[in-house]
Amino acid sequence: MLDFGHFRNDIIVGHIRVPCEAPVLTWHDHGLRFNNGRGSRRRHPKQKIDLIVLHWTGGEGTAKQIYKTLTSRELGVEFVVDREGVIWQFADPARVDTFDAGRVNPRSVGIEIVNYGFRRGRPPRKGAVRPIYQSSLNGKARSFAGFFPGQMRSTVALCDALRGPLKAIPKRLPRNDKGEVLRRVMTREEVDDYSGVLGHFHVSRRKTDPGTEIFDVLTASVYECTTATAPSSTSRTSRDSLFTSKTANTLRCGSLRAAFSKQCVSVKIFWPNGVTSRTCIGLDKKPIYTWATTRTMKTSGGMMPKGKRYVR
Ligand SMILES: [Zn+2]
Repeated sequence: MLDFGHFRNDIIVGHIRVPCEAPVLTWHDHGLRFNNGRGSRRRHPKQKIDLIVLHWTGGEGTAKQIYKTLTSRELGVEFVVDREGVIWQFADPARVDTFDAGRVNPRSVGIEIVNYGFRRGRPPRKGAVRPIYQSSLNGKARSFAGFFPGQMRSTVALCDALRGPLKAIPKRLPRNDKGEVLRRVMTREEVDDYSGVLGHFHVSRRKTDPGTEIFDVLTASVYECTTATAPSSTSRTSRDSLFTSKTANTLRCGSLRAAFSKQCVSVKIFWPNGVTSRTCIGLDKKPIYTWATTRTMKTSGGMMPKGKRYVR
């Protein structure tokens, strides 16, 4: 297993560290920053931030390559979620306005998720492993490349974390009268009246990013009652009793996978020896990462020091 223990699990908003349940690297770790220069400008302290705009990058490059490309085009973004689901923070959203979403930049935080997304002909080599799904956008049938489960989990965690300090962003997606997520560009008035999370395609007719699937994930994971969409055998009660049981240490990944059929969740496990750990389970039912939260723990794979994360 790879050791990704050097990740943080907090982001920086308004100079303050805010907990985020995903692996994070900030400019203090990677040294790359948008700070009121090219691709960004100072955000007025009184400016209300009430939108999160999701994008895909349109390629499979690393977060560093994306930073370089954006800079060369005098564009910017506050966050990138890389292929491994690691969140790279490039700007403090409370203080810096990056240029990623046109007219709504002043009131929005941008998140770029690495994915080639959509392409005629063959996908890029690194993108060939992505699942393809069919959907419609602006009334037109299209095929999209999906995000990896770890990317979706981190994106959901990041939206959650941002909503802590940025209280004007509600837990909301753009929906039609039937309650379905809008799969079309919104009118200027609709955007002006809206606050919450949306996609680049909602605010720009020329755009298709970030595809439609992430909104199903947000709906299923966070933005509606998660228990309502869970299969009956994995109701919240049975989950809790399962992982607080004295026999928790006999559960292995196999039974964890069996217990979660479609949710993307973080599970706290109480071990009989007094240690607690957390495991994030992705939509593919595989643990994304595990970490001990109280003290060093002995596992079948060796010692798991407190706070160290093991990512598949
Ligand atoms: Zn975009």
